[in-house]
Amino acid sequence: MGDDGNLVVPDEPIIPFIEGDGTGVDIWPAAKLVLDAAAAKHGHKVAWKEVLAGQKAFDETGNWLPDETVETFRSHLIGIKGPLTTPVGGGIRSLNVALRQILDLYIRENTEDVYAGYEVQSGTPEAEKLAAYLREEMGWPIREASGIGIKPISPMGSKRLIRAALQYALDRKRRSVTLVHKGNIQKFTEGAFREWGYELVREEFADVAVGWDDCDGEPGDKLLVKDTIADITLQQVLTRPSDFDVIATTNLNGDYLSDALAAQVGGIGIAPGANINFVSGHGVFEATHGTAPKYAGQDKVNPGSVLLSGVLMFEHIGWNNAASDIVHALEATIDEKIVTYDFARLMDGATEVKTSEFASAIVDRL
Ligand code: NAP
Repeated sequence: MGDDGNLVVPDEPIIPFIEGDGTGVDIWPAAKLVLDAAAAKHGHKVAWKEVLAGQKAFDETGNWLPDETVETFRSHLIGIKGPLTTPVGGGIRSLNVALRQILDLYIRENTEDVYAGYEVQSGTPEAEKLAAYLREEMGWPIREASGIGIKPISPMGSKRLIRAALQYALDRKRRSVTLVHKGNIQKFTEGAFREWGYELVREEFADVAVGWDDCDGEPGDKLLVKDTIADITLQQVLTRPSDFDVIATTNLNGDYLSDALAAQVGGIGIAPGANINFVSGHGVFEATHGTAPKYAGQDKVNPGSVLLSGVLMFEHIGWNNAASDIVHALEATIDEKIVTYDFARLMDGATEVKTSEFASAIVDRL
């Protein structure tokens, strides 16, 4: 980071990448082809540096998330990754969640909420100890043999996420920011998230943004900040999508919403993800879907998710021209109905192509 808080990007940045398990072998080379071509068109070049995580790391090093990988992401500030296998059971937490927490990547509130990982398993001494404390000290009638999870939501964690969402909306001249929460039931966590959001607007953004209640929904030339409850939001994003623009929410709500919204634009095959700490500059850009193991190595699935994650990464480092060229070329390719299997089954008259052919078609349209 420079003294002005902006990222300082060298002419030929070294960017770490994790290829990803399963279909990672298909989608990463395809995405890289397009990213490199778009960068070159604008005189940029990326020196890609492979780092290991997931199954490939385990097979080669015996470690699912080697320290060297985390260190490389930490020292290079940014990186991009394909999907990683999350072994079920066996005491291994999601590698994605671990990476987000180690690098404190808070966009989408990735470090708090029930995703903080504070859980104790039914029947263990830890669970009994916690349950006994809650019964005796808090008077909570926790049932025998309950598993227990903790949902921490802090003012600091909430405000820095909402601050980043407001800044994102202002920088891009967006219409509104909606705080999505379940505060009617979870008053002191989700409800507090909402309150802290409006407090932040009044404290730090009063000249450029205004809360719904302070303007009766008439923000004038200011950015409108409003809120909705999570369950009705899942209906309204379908029935009244134009009511929403930028959304700031807690982690579990965000997880559900992002997949539901991805379905509205063609599916998780093209939904990108970014996990950013706007203060430290760290960012990990990632495909939002999983490893889709049944398709691994078949050159079949859509590389759009990891490619568009690369677009978000290019925007993060200021390569906006290369980023928008990719978006336009991707749109042109889809407009011509040249698509992978997932879009082909949604379109009449589509030409279904392989992952690699789809990438080449995008490059041809750059
Ligand atoms: P998944 O891998 O996302 O696959 C679910 C379905 O989504 C696929 O069967 C396929 O649908 C569709 N899909 C996934 N990737 C696609 C692509 N690139 N293009 C088009 N369609 C795509 O979910 P999962 O089967 O539940 O999880 C498999 C593994 O991935 C698990 O180990 C899980 O933990 C892990 N995972 C990792 C991440 C991550 O690294 N960020 C995220 C989620 C899951 P159709 O069957 O309809 O073709």
